[in-house]
Amino acid sequence: MPKLYLVPTPIGNLEDITLRSIRILKECDIIFAEDTRVTKRLLQHLEIQKPLQPFHAHNEHKSLKSAVDKVASVESAVLVSDAGTPGISDPGFLLIRECIREGISVECLPGPTAFVPAVVASGFPCDKFRYEGFLPHKKGRQTLLKNIAERDITTIVYESPHRLQKCLAQIEEFMGPEREVCVAREITKMFEEYQRGPVSLVKAHYEAHPPKGEIVVVISGKS
Ligand code: SAM
Repeated sequence: MPKLYLVPTPIGNLEDITLRSIRILKECDIIFAEDTRVTKRLLQHLEIQKPLQPFHAHNEHKSLKSAVDKVASVESAVLVSDAGTPGISDPGFLLIRECIREGISVECLPGPTAFVPAVVASGFPCDKFRYEGFLPHKKGRQTLLKNIAERDITTIVYESPHRLQKCLAQIEEFMGPEREVCVAREITKMFEEYQRGPVSLVKAHYEAHPPKGEIVVVISGKS
């Protein structure tokens, strides 16, 4: 009976991989990877050798059928992305949906994903929240910002360092200078930091200290 495992991988600190994830990587027949070079480095670190097949955003549609056929032909296949949980702002959804349609058993192991530590450590209510992934660059961006401005619950967005200032400026414009935000940067890495406070102050901080690395922005609900 074929099975597809979704295996989360570290978002920075290589110690953040579960014992079960390591075992599944060791036991599987094939690993589908977003970037085989990135996954090769992780496997080398774990001293695992396995056949790797690329499965990334650019070939996700084209390679879907052959990937499903491959999963169906083995006992156990794994899908990983470069970091974090496959399918969370990463390729995976199409393969998962197609495998389920084909009656293939699909299991996602619990493990690293950037938005969970970001929202929990933000100090904002996390009993209920909305994950938006990356904000659209153009179409729909303003409508979404207006929508977030009116929400009572916490919102999470992924952002790149060179777009952070624009994002914070627009949060200030649409939600006011007092809206509380938390910028979680380089989670689990050497320069991990959380900047919490009214958006005007957090924006001023990053004007003075242009950010590097990976970023999650958490926006408090309208209170
Ligand atoms: N699949 C991943 C997950 O489960 O979180 C997300 C992949 S998405 C392509 C990459 C984005 O996730 C980055 O641009 C950043 O917004 C966020 N991210 C990933 N690792 C991070 C880290 N260590 N610290 C802060 N944000 C991170």
